Amino acid sequence: MPVRYYDWIAHHRRRAADKIALVDLASGRSFSYAQLDDRVSKLATHLRDRLKVASGDRVAVLALNTTDTLEVQFACFRIGAVFLPLNTRLTVPELHYIVGDAAPVVMIHDDDLAETALAVAKLCNVASARRLGPGGSYEAGIAAATPLARFEEVTLDDISTIMYTSGTTGQPKGAIITHGMTFWNCVNLGGPACISPSSVLLTVLPLFHTGGLNCYTNPVLHAGGTVLIMRVFDPAEALRLISDPAQGINVFFGVPSIYQFMAQHPAFATADFSRLIVGGVGGAPMPVPLLKTWETRGVALQQGYGMTETSPAVMVLDREDAARKAGSSGKPVLHTEVRIVRPDGTDAAVGELGELWVKGPNITPGYWNRPDANAASFTDGWLHTGDATRMDEDGFYYIVDRWKDMYISGGENVYPAEVESVLHQLAAVAEAAVIGIPSEQWGEVGMAIIAVKPGHSLAAAEIHAHCQANLARFKCPRVVEFVEALPRNATGKIHKPTLRQQFSQPKPTDTAA
Ligand code: ATP
Ligand code: MG
Repeated sequence: MPVRYYDWIAHHRRRAADKIALVDLASGRSFSYAQLDDRVSKLATHLRDRLKVASGDRVAVLALNTTDTLEVQFACFRIGAVFLPLNTRLTVPELHYIVGDAAPVVMIHDDDLAETALAVAKLCNVASARRLGPGGSYEAGIAAATPLARFEEVTLDDISTIMYTSGTTGQPKGAIITHGMTFWNCVNLGGPACISPSSVLLTVLPLFHTGGLNCYTNPVLHAGGTVLIMRVFDPAEALRLISDPAQGINVFFGVPSIYQFMAQHPAFATADFSRLIVGGVGGAPMPVPLLKTWETRGVALQQGYGMTETSPAVMVLDREDAARKAGSSGKPVLHTEVRIVRPDGTDAAVGELGELWVKGPNITPGYWNRPDANAASFTDGWLHTGDATRMDEDGFYYIVDRWKDMYISGGENVYPAEVESVLHQLAAVAEAAVIGIPSEQWGEVGMAIIAVKPGHSLAAAEIHAHCQANLARFKCPRVVEFVEALPRNATGKIHKPTLRQQFSQPKPTDTAA
């Protein structure tokens, strides 16, 4: 018999009604579990009775980070509706595609995104829009509603959320997330990340992506801890808050670029990280030199690997191993199985590179409206991640790169992430990306695209010399381009399709070596 979904907020109200659940840093509002429970309950009635949201209907949110987004999530759960968080960085045509695909009945938006939200709602015939903020119809709806008398019967097999992937490799896909997937992620992540009622998390990543929502916002609320929500990531403000004893922040999560921005900030040298129990990092390859920089400030960042489709934790590196196995994503979490698979479908040997496949109760049952992607992505319940991975003799996993980013130079496979990691060893490098570009002589050669740290200088010759000293010849980028900053998507990941488009023409220098 399927297990029921139990509401975490109502539960923690019974445990510790006055405990602060959420802090909205931008507005200064904070909500105890009792206050949050009341608001969610009234919002649920408003959605169901006033806006006619039925079980299974989608409710979209287009807003910069706010605690309201989490209220919508929990209100949807109480009435069996599906939470649909939308990427605020997308343009109207991009959102048109996603909203057209997921077909929500309501669009909840903030003032900043009002124009976009209303344009998309009109294009996609979304029946109702609700504006956040003082004087908005969202607050008025909560104020006028009565608390929900009875929660809808929802099981762990029901869909809770549709979350679109980051769109790093192409068009975002709507990953179907069930209540059970989120629950098992709380279990899988909670232990290794030491999540407990004493956890105080600062969330800086966008809540519309799994990193912001599930690392560790949902697990901390599931455990009855406190979450501070930053509207938009600001490195100086994040360093100030983490250093402030009054905030008591002891859990933090970022993608590598978040840690890079913080490490580059002058306040990094004097910030107080002594209360931090967990500094998690994942979502993209983490340069080892950056791990070392944080180590000099006494912070052993815990690497992890995951995807939207796995909600998201698949692997975590324990704190005790963080320095010894720097660069590894650790070992699989408790309730998730992994395999490294050769192109012929057999299991790779220790040390051999293959594609990572994953299985478990935290893995998506499939993509929304994408039979093509579903057929291509699963074999016997195993999800193909598209990530090239190897395991060492101690059972630690290394995510090498995406198969799609690999290029072949003179018959040899080159994984850009390895080259990027070597480029990051140069102190003047702020950002580095490597792509394969066409070459008449070698098929493809590497191009390094570099952003130099402010106040530093770096010549192409120094980069070539450093690569030649540290990498096999076929891996050394033949061409170097300098840019102010690399294009990144909303999760802070380097957007290689943009770089390929910009730089894919063969360069006259590419046959020089
Ligand atoms: P799309 O699927 O739309 O192209 P995306 O794959 O970037 O976008 P996400 O689900 O946000 O969308 O990201 C998951 C991917 O992030 C993984 O498949 C992997 O390539 C990368 N990733 C996550 N964690 C790590 C890590 N620790 N090291 C290297 N890469 C990682
Ligand atoms: Mg992906």
